[in-house]
Amino acid sequence: MQKMKYYDVIILGAGIAGCGLAYNLRKFGYSGSVLIIDDGKKNNLGYGHRIVSYEDVKEYNLPFSKKFKRLDVGMYNKVYFSIDYDFYFVNYAQACEHLREKSGYHLIEEKAKNVENNILITENNEYGLKYLIDCTGSSFFLRKKFGLPIPDIYWIVKTRKIQAKPTMDYDSFSFFFSNGDYFEDVYPMENEIIQGDWLYTRHVDFSKLSAPVNSFMNTYLNEAKVTEEKTAVFPVSPVMPLVSRNYAFLGDSFGNALPSVGTGFTVILDSSVMLAEAIIKKDLYQYKKKWTKKYLEKYLKIIALKENTHFNHPIVAKMKKYPSIEKILSVVKDNPEQFLAMVTDNGDPNFTKKMRNIYPRQVILWQIFHYLAIKFKYLQNHIQNRQMF
Ligand SMILES: Cc1cc2nc3c(=O)[nH]c(=O)nc-3n(C[C@H](O)[C@H](O)[C@H](O)COP(=O)(O)OP(=O)(O)OC[C@H]3O[C@@H](n4cnc5c(N)ncnc54)[C@H](O)[C@@H]3O)c2cc1C
Repeated sequence: MQKMKYYDVIILGAGIAGCGLAYNLRKFGYSGSVLIIDDGKKNNLGYGHRIVSYEDVKEYNLPFSKKFKRLDVGMYNKVYFSIDYDFYFVNYAQACEHLREKSGYHLIEEKAKNVENNILITENNEYGLKYLIDCTGSSFFLRKKFGLPIPDIYWIVKTRKIQAKPTMDYDSFSFFFSNGDYFEDVYPMENEIIQGDWLYTRHVDFSKLSAPVNSFMNTYLNEAKVTEEKTAVFPVSPVMPLVSRNYAFLGDSFGNALPSVGTGFTVILDSSVMLAEAIIKKDLYQYKKKWTKKYLEKYLKIIALKENTHFNHPIVAKMKKYPSIEKILSVVKDNPEQFLAMVTDNGDPNFTKKMRNIYPRQVILWQIFHYLAIKFKYLQNHIQNRQMF
C-alpha cells in the first residue's frame, strides 16, 4: 500500500478563498508544506467575471479583461447618478489560478469525502494534516460533515449573456435597484450585454427570481437573443464557528461575502491575510479573534439594516411611513461618495445623518431590536458549537 502523504496545511477548495490563502501564505514566508485540493466542479468558478475594486486588482496584480470608469446607480432602468471610480472585470477562474500559480503550491483535482483523526480522505487518497482549511464555498464540506449550522441568508443570481450592441456608455456599468428584494446589474461589453437578476433571500428558490416589468431587462432587451443563462447562489451571513481546533473556515464556506451587494473578493482576500498570519504563528484562534473584531459587528449591522428593506417583515410592512428605495436613492444622489463606500463595503450602513432622518423612528428601533436579536443568535451559536468537533 502507498505511504500516506502528510501536509502541514491542506486547503480544500481552489476558489478565491483557497487561492488567496495560498498566495498569502507564500507571501508571508510560510515554511510548512501546503497542498490545495479541489474537485474541479467549478461551481461558482464557472461564472465568468467578477467586479473587483482597483485596490484588490493592484494589491494582487490580478489579470483583468475590462476597466469600467463609472458606476451608474438608479431605479429599474433609470439612472439617478453616476460615480466616477475604477472597477475591473476579472475572469474568476483566471484570477484564482493567477494567485495559486504565484503561491507555487500544488493543486490536486480530487473530491474530499471525509475527514477523520486529522486524515483527509478523498476519492483516491488519504492525506495526513496539521491544519485543514475549508474553502469549499457553498458546498459547506466540513459544516455538513460535522452537522454545523450553515448560513441562512443568500444572494441568488441569474446571469445572462445577451447578444446586443450596447447603446449605453461603454465605460460604465449599472446597478438598478427595485423597491423590493430584487436588483439588477448591467455590463456593456464589446458585442454583448451581461445582465444579472439578484435576489436577497432566506429561501433559495429560483422561481422567485424574475425581473420586474420595468426592469432594464424587460424594458430594453425583450427581443434580444440570450446566448447563455446561468444561476448561482452564495451565502452572505457569517456563521460560527470560524475555527475549531485545527480546522478553519474561509470564504463562502462560512458566509464570508458581504450582505450589502454581495461582494466577496475584498473581504475574503482580507480574511485570507488574517488566516495566513495565524497559521504562521501556529494559532488559528488568532484568525477568529481578528476576524470577529474587525468584521462581525459590521455584518450584523448590515444584515439588521437590510432586514428593513428586504423580506417584507410583517412589522416593517405595517409601518406606513417606511421610506421607499426611490426616496433613499434621491437622498443618496446628493452624497454619491458615501453610497460608493457602502457598495464597496467600506462605509457605515447608516451613511449620512440625512439618511437617518428619512427613516421613521420605528424603523430605527426595529433595526436596533433586530440587530440585538441576531447578535444574540450568533453568540448562542458560537457557544453551542465551540466543542462540536
Ligand atoms: C454569479 C456571481 C457573481 C458574483 N459577483 C461578485 C462580484 O462581482 N464581486 C465580488 O467581489 N464577489 C462576487 N460574488 C461573490 C464571490 O464570487 C464569492 O463570495 C466568492 O467567489 C467565494 O469564493 P470561495 O473561494 O469561498 O468559494 P468558491 O468560489 O465557491 O470555491 C469553492 C471551491 O471548492 C470546491 N469544492 C467544494 N466542495 C469540495 C470537495 N468536497 N472537495 C474538493 N473541492 C470542493 C468547489 O469546486 C470550488 O472550486 C459573486 C458570486 C456569484 C455566484
